[in-house]
Amino acid sequence: MKAQIIDGKKISGEIRENIIKEVNDLKNSHGIVPGLAVIIAGDDEASSVYVSMKEKSCKNVGFYSQAYKLPQNTTQSEIIDLVEKLNQDPKIHGILVQLPLPKGINEDIINSHILPSKDVDGFHAVNSGNMLLGKPSFVPCTPKGIIELIKRTGEEINGKHAVVIGRSNIVGKPAAVLLLRENATVTICHSKTKDLKQHVAMADIVVAAVGSPNLITGDMIKEGAIVIDAGTRKIDGKLVGDVEFDKAVDKASWITPVPGGVGPMTITMLLQNTLKAARDQCK
Ligand code: NAP
Repeated sequence: MKAQIIDGKKISGEIRENIIKEVNDLKNSHGIVPGLAVIIAGDDEASSVYVSMKEKSCKNVGFYSQAYKLPQNTTQSEIIDLVEKLNQDPKIHGILVQLPLPKGINEDIINSHILPSKDVDGFHAVNSGNMLLGKPSFVPCTPKGIIELIKRTGEEINGKHAVVIGRSNIVGKPAAVLLLRENATVTICHSKTKDLKQHVAMADIVVAAVGSPNLITGDMIKEGAIVIDAGTRKIDGKLVGDVEFDKAVDKASWITPVPGGVGPMTITMLLQNTLKAARDQCK
């Protein structure tokens, strides 16, 4: 069986069309333009590219966006001061601090200063806690996009066995919590997991979030599984995922490509979170 491709680019485009409509409604009904502030410190090349992509995406859906580019030697208290200022800025509904931050700056401390109502990345402890409790919260963008992609297949999550490989606070752990909330039975694998193959072989849904090319080989995949590959690593200038796509595509029922799967969804979910923040704040 050849898997159907879950086209993240196409799905992302459809969601952005809806966002554009909702932005227009918000402008017409409340005179509000959703605003996103992105703080970037240092000269990490990949981070600069991500920030430009976020600014461009904001512009395309009609948001106001402002990037704050700080030098490598910026101090933690300078970033906190900026966050506090943006917390009070009525034009800004969402604040995002681009990671990684320069050495010596504690990202948890920075995130703890963002108002939970403007924490569109969903990294503040209040939002993480509420997500865990099943209460309304901002949900981190990549795992939110992963769940959306699975739902768009039309397949049930309820009762399925999902295996998440990776347990970071940004991708793996929240993806596992969200799958649990959808009533999947969830196994989380990590670098200390013994016999990864045995776990993956039992999965109806595989979510790979490691950053280790071809870690999940085609022979591990159960016939008919849904395979979501969030992993990205650049090799010889080419973006590759965690899953051995060429082999896995013959076993899975649905699979995401890399690039063009999870990647395009992350910024789209950020736009969705910022729109929600603007709507909530105008209530
Ligand atoms: P991370 O913080 O480095 O976490 C990687 C996770 O993989 C850790 O939990 C680690 O386990 C686990 N791991 C490492 N080697 C393993 C192995 N051999 N077997 C099983 N698990 C293993 O990375 P991250 O931030 O979660 O990102 C994961 C991947 O997603 C990366 O490739 C990243 O580039 C990509 N990503 C993509 C997007 C997107 O928009 N597409 C967004 C964010 C991240 P331990 O906890 O035991 O160390």
